[in-house]
Amino acid sequence: MLSVVIPAYNEEKMIGKAADAIEEPLIREGIAYELLFIDDGSTDGTWKRIHGRAKEDDKIRGIRFSKNFGKESAIFAGLAYAEGDCVVVIDCDLQHPPEKIIEMYRLWEEGYEVIEGIKADRGEESKFHSFAAACFYHIISKAAQVDMEKASDFKLLDRQAVNVLLNMREQKAFFRALSSWIGFKTASVEFDVAKREEGTTKWTTWSLMKYAISNIASFSAAPMQIVTVLGGIMLLFSLILGTVALFQKIGGIALEGFTTVIIIQLFTGSIIMMSLGIIGYYIARIYDEIKGRPRYIISKKCGYDK
Ligand code: UDP
Ligand code: MG
Repeated sequence: MLSVVIPAYNEEKMIGKAADAIEEPLIREGIAYELLFIDDGSTDGTWKRIHGRAKEDDKIRGIRFSKNFGKESAIFAGLAYAEGDCVVVIDCDLQHPPEKIIEMYRLWEEGYEVIEGIKADRGEESKFHSFAAACFYHIISKAAQVDMEKASDFKLLDRQAVNVLLNMREQKAFFRALSSWIGFKTASVEFDVAKREEGTTKWTTWSLMKYAISNIASFSAAPMQIVTVLGGIMLLFSLILGTVALFQKIGGIALEGFTTVIIIQLFTGSIIMMSLGIIGYYIARIYDEIKGRPRYIISKKCGYDK
């Protein structure tokens, strides 16, 4: 059986459409399936819609979070509750074409264990967004040592791969990169990003920036090395300036030098603050991980009584 995990956050208009669009090709191809909607603490009628569909259709189940935990958490909950031999993760807004699930499923039948959905183009985005995305993916590709430039969350995973992901204890996991990091026999399927039909994207520039920093940190400790490098550069500077100052003192031509002093002072100050910030960020991450809070809290389930 194929499980389809669909994270949904304030997608009331899309639940019905998504269910129809995803079921249609699966029924046509005669593939055994279940749909698992994860309501990520929506504040609109999303849960009502999921509940309604689950009543009519015994192949649909739903899980509701107690609040918004983010898409990553929703995906992991979906993986945990999916019962299929393979699991597809797909967006609720139909930006990932459901037709492609068939293609992925066939590859899985051929023996591939991780099938990645690759964006052929990035759909409609603002200039700034695509530039920021390009920077982020460049860094994360380096950090995770997998090419992430065109990666998406649209994937099919074999049961074995799902179990590996579920056994990872990382709280702030980055699904998109982890699925390649775990290895396994991998294939990819290209798809065109469709336009969002209803509702709006859940991302703001600020939340994307936080997301980017958090994911870079989860794959790399390199920013901490920047601190070391900056320290090295500062040391070099201070050696040169120190020598000059000493010679001037000996030669009896020591300047008043207020400007130099204040510039060095400000420069050192800001570098130290920045470094503390970077280190602090990692400490905060360690703290978050060590608390071991659950990734998500489930408040309701539906479709489990049949
Ligand atoms: N989503 C979610 N929790 C969130 C934000 C988004 O489950 O906190 C879901 C959303 O309902 C959609 C998918 O993740 O199914 C992708 O979200 P969105 O379309 O906003 O992202 P984009 O396609 O713009 O990257
Ligand atoms: Mg979308």
